[in-house]
Amino acid sequence: MLKDYATVWDNCLRTIRRNVNSQSFKTWFEPIKPVRLDRDALIIQVPNKFFYEWLEEHYVALLKMTIRQELGETGRLEYQILMNKNQEEQNQTSTPTKKGKDIHAPGGIDTGSIKNPFVIPGIKKLKIDPQINPSYTFDNFIEGDCNRLARSAGLAVAKKPGGTAFNPLVIFGDVGLGKTHLAQAIGNDILRNNPTKTVLYVSSEKFTNQIIESIRNNAVNDFVNFYQQIDILIVDDIQFLANKVKTQEIFFHIFNQLHQGGKQVILTSDRPPKDLDGMAERLISRFKWGLSADLQAPDLETRMAILESKMNQEGLELPYDVCEFICYNIKNNIRELEGVLISIVAQSTLNRREIDIGLTKEVIKNFVTQMSKEITVPFIQKLVADHFDVPVDKLKGQTRKRGIVIARQLSMYLAKNLTNKSLKAIGENFGGRDHSTVIYSCKAVQDLLDTDMIFKDTVTDLEKKIKMSLNEK
Ligand code: ADP
Ligand code: MG
Repeated sequence: MLKDYATVWDNCLRTIRRNVNSQSFKTWFEPIKPVRLDRDALIIQVPNKFFYEWLEEHYVALLKMTIRQELGETGRLEYQILMNKNQEEQNQTSTPTKKGKDIHAPGGIDTGSIKNPFVIPGIKKLKIDPQINPSYTFDNFIEGDCNRLARSAGLAVAKKPGGTAFNPLVIFGDVGLGKTHLAQAIGNDILRNNPTKTVLYVSSEKFTNQIIESIRNNAVNDFVNFYQQIDILIVDDIQFLANKVKTQEIFFHIFNQLHQGGKQVILTSDRPPKDLDGMAERLISRFKWGLSADLQAPDLETRMAILESKMNQEGLELPYDVCEFICYNIKNNIRELEGVLISIVAQSTLNRREIDIGLTKEVIKNFVTQMSKEITVPFIQKLVADHFDVPVDKLKGQTRKRGIVIARQLSMYLAKNLTNKSLKAIGENFGGRDHSTVIYSCKAVQDLLDTDMIFKDTVTDLEKKIKMSLNEK
């Protein structure tokens, strides 16, 4: 007796309905459409790959049993995966009949044969806007000790996405140190060298909102489906996924799919993976599979190089001493460095003022909080102690070790020359020494300056550093 496919599927559904709860039935079986009967195979259409995998994972035994009941011992199911809406529309005119590809039955036949159900002959790959800013490149990501590892790992990943041990690549560091720039530089490089790769940049915030939206619209499957098509996924600021259980769960699923498929995942975070509180342990352990590379605050030379590069980009020119002044004072955030540069230029244009240290100081004060205009004795003590690598306390104590004595005397000398404090006030800052000790110290330093060129250079450097700094309190 010949059966038609709709009747066969109806009968199957009747059995299935008795075996699963109504919510599952609604979610996983109602959306299935029978397509045709091909001898002992019933072809059914499912909305996406995720759907198919879910059925495979959870209902394979039930489906097998049901279909055999209807079609006999050799009966089997074949799946057809419906492409998502955009793809359908995009391809409707070109190949309207080839929406899907028949894939294997869950009844145990040829389960290893599907690799990627989205690459279907005759159907173009979905074009996805990578959401990447083309101006973030490796060329303008200045290299320094602070970023060498992360930058070279980024270059390696860009050269061979998914093909290095750096998967995922986790770039972490404080705000404004270049995480987004570096992550996007990788994306840009890949897009330039492999235009067929699908790259996607997404902030964790956007990712989370997309998930919330897809849950609301009952479209989580489409969401997951979409992300599974990405070859290089960049998720920025994953610390914002902390404590978002559902988002983490879905991200975990997507991550695994991509990673297993040899796709590249790049993540950024404001702290190392192990310190991501509120993140599921299984996710943290995945993050550690690849490489975590940090970005540190750049040193003075690197800051100067970055500032110069920004000026070139913007077509600006600033006097050298102004650049130096900016870089001495903005240490921990490159975005601030740029902010200061732009503000100085804006202030100078708006108020028709020459760009000099005076204007620069005013601008910088708006960026750096807790600034004091004055050079203070404790500030000098700290700089000198750091330079000689001795604890500040020792400058105030009684130690007669030569290195410490010199640092102590030099601090007094600089305090006398660079502050307007009285000799008595200076002495008080050094464990209550009296003014004659300060005079004696200044004399000793002066003698050394007159005879020791190296010492003289050191002192000149320190003086410059102190004058250049708007000292933090
Ligand atoms: P984060 O994402 O870590 O907060 P961003 O990537 O947004 O930091 O970087 C802040 C700004 O600093 C950006 O404009 C970026 O171009 C710039 N920047 C950071 N590091 C470098 C670098 N090494 N060379 C040039 N510019 C940099
Ligand atoms: Mg960022």
